[in-house]
Amino acid sequence: MRGPRGTGLTKAQIIDTFARRLGNHPEVERAEALRHIHRIAEIRLADRFGAEPVLGNQVWDWHEALARHSDPGFAEHGQLTVTYLTDAHRACAAQISEVMRAAGFDAVHTDAVGNVVGRYHADPSAKNAKTLLTGSHYDTVRNGGKYDGRQGIFVPIACVQALHGAGRRLPFGIEVVAFAEEEGQRFKAAFLASGALIGAFDATWLDQQDADGISMRQAMQQAGLAIDDIPKLKRDAADYLGFIEVHIEQGPVLNALNLPLGVVTSINGSLRFVGEFVGQASHAGTTPMDRRRDAACAAAELALYLEERAAKDGDSVATMGLMNVPGGSINVVPGRCAFSLDLRAPNDAQRDALVADVLERAQQIGTRRGVACTLEETMRADAAPSDPAWQQRWERAVASLGLPVFRLPSGAGHDAMMLHRIMPQAMLFVRGENGGISHNPLESTTADDMELAVRAMQRLLDDLAAELAGV
Ligand SMILES: [Zn+2]
Repeated sequence: MRGPRGTGLTKAQIIDTFARRLGNHPEVERAEALRHIHRIAEIRLADRFGAEPVLGNQVWDWHEALARHSDPGFAEHGQLTVTYLTDAHRACAAQISEVMRAAGFDAVHTDAVGNVVGRYHADPSAKNAKTLLTGSHYDTVRNGGKYDGRQGIFVPIACVQALHGAGRRLPFGIEVVAFAEEEGQRFKAAFLASGALIGAFDATWLDQQDADGISMRQAMQQAGLAIDDIPKLKRDAADYLGFIEVHIEQGPVLNALNLPLGVVTSINGSLRFVGEFVGQASHAGTTPMDRRRDAACAAAELALYLEERAAKDGDSVATMGLMNVPGGSINVVPGRCAFSLDLRAPNDAQRDALVADVLERAQQIGTRRGVACTLEETMRADAAPSDPAWQQRWERAVASLGLPVFRLPSGAGHDAMMLHRIMPQAMLFVRGENGGISHNPLESTTADDMELAVRAMQRLLDDLAAELAGV
């Protein structure tokens, strides 16, 4: 058990992993065992050739050091939770600033919403040099993983460190932003940090209160943030070449395919509904099967349709995450069934077609079964397809490392979704270990995969420099 850093795992980590794997379906366990064999081969080959992922180890260690900071109530249990503007959150910001300064950034500051912004200037001989924007978030969900968001901060820092170490400047500036808030945990204002960069910070959020009754305004004042300066954070897209983001995949796809990196084609658009089927509660013993108006069966039929309809697209996903018979009883035919719908697809047209079919089917099921169906839309997010030129730059960078180019959509939302509204963007995914589990303490990536992520970004930067120089 040499683990993701090649230095071993703690006893607690080994036990947690086995506890999780005990319930695995044999197919899943076989795939995971094969991944481990592959990892052992990787480590032994690297040993034999004296290959050390120096950059990857550095990036891995930065994550580990940052994960020391956790909010009270979680820190005591060894859990990682960093929510907006807590002491742990501010300690993270201070530590990221320090890492940036030590890496050789020219200017580092914390902005009006708590983002840590590091700038590495362009070659002074480059005329009207633009800037490449990159970054991700450093807040976490409750009891989250160490890599979600943070990889997208530390990978570019490693690139700047290497440039600075070699005394190199590129014909464009690099701006790395460690976003203060993405997960919407303390306040219901997800993406407020990247939103501020596109002028989408909503001033009414300032009056929102956290669970302890502290308003966002108070939290910001206490952190010494200049609230009045928030509108000034809006970037002028004309100053930028585009936005790129590295992120742990947070899913099982790359792990299952045994691929360390994947190029994101689009951040899926999504729509959410809460709904209810209302039939007739009746005696489970005396109501014949052809006389029932079973609301739960209607919901179950819709759930199976979701599965079939989304699979038809290949890359759409549809989930009924909640299914609840309020006041249900073992001997009563369900009269009501409340449910949720979460529908996502890589582009809005595909998503909308999926939604239209699902809504139509819900009505058909209701009519045929004699149950009423109500649906209420609760969330809508448009898809953010990757900019073709930037996606190709990532693809070339991945191919240059001798890796197969694998493309996949992002099922989860990311900061890139916000920047998408004002500039071209594309993301790179890094494989997660433990079956790709995320928003969970078992989230993991190896130092070797991080090394590949840094090398891919370095390659992208070099190619971009050559492109701009017209080579
Ligand atoms: Zn994230």
